[in-house]
Amino acid sequence: MIAPPGAGKGTQGAVLADYLGVPHIATGDLLRDHVARQTAIGRSVQQCLARGELVPDEIVLTMVRTALRDTGGGYVLDGVPRTMAQARTLYDAAVQTDATADVALHLQVGEAELVRRLRARAEEEGRLDDTEEVIRRRLALYDQVTHPILDWYDERGILVSVDADRPADAVSRHVITALEVVRQVIAGNPEAPRTAIDLTNLGKAFGA
Ligand code: AMP
Repeated sequence: MIAPPGAGKGTQGAVLADYLGVPHIATGDLLRDHVARQTAIGRSVQQCLARGELVPDEIVLTMVRTALRDTGGGYVLDGVPRTMAQARTLYDAAVQTDATADVALHLQVGEAELVRRLRARAEEEGRLDDTEEVIRRRLALYDQVTHPILDWYDERGILVSVDADRPADAVSRHVITALEVVRQVIAGNPEAPRTAIDLTNLGKAFGA
């Protein structure tokens, strides 16, 4: 899943993992857990998290490799990759084990709505990185560093983009419908070239 902070990765990731019966691996959750337990990793990354900066690739990649090793095959990866280097390293590793991603799911939400959601979350959950300044920093990093990765998934034909600026259950329905289409395409001919699916204009086309 590739999406800006506040787009609903955590919510949709959990729904999807449950629906598909695979583990939900969320790097943000794993990192926050390290910080809470004050492990060596936790101590080394807590400043990054508090400031909304990206944690060094190597730390994230080691964590994700360990989490993936414990899965039986399928997975929902949430919050990673966030840099092109992470994307390429994970892809190279997945090629070795024949476990490359079937889908790169992009949740699209406009910036004003993202800021509104993150402010609301700040009041509800009190997350350290949901302050105004850190929110802006995280959104800027997403635009500059993470969003460009989408082009790579688009070229590979595995990108599925949905309009996530709507209630969570409506987003889940769109996501699951799109993934079921992909599942059938892959089942029909796993080696066939794929085409990206863009559902971000459904609202405009058909109304709410
Ligand atoms: P999230 O819960 O996905 O919003 O992530 C919270 C914070 O964890 C981010 O602002 C980063 O500081 C850090 N983080 C999570 N995933 C990554 C990643 N793949 N690469 C670098 N930093 C990450």
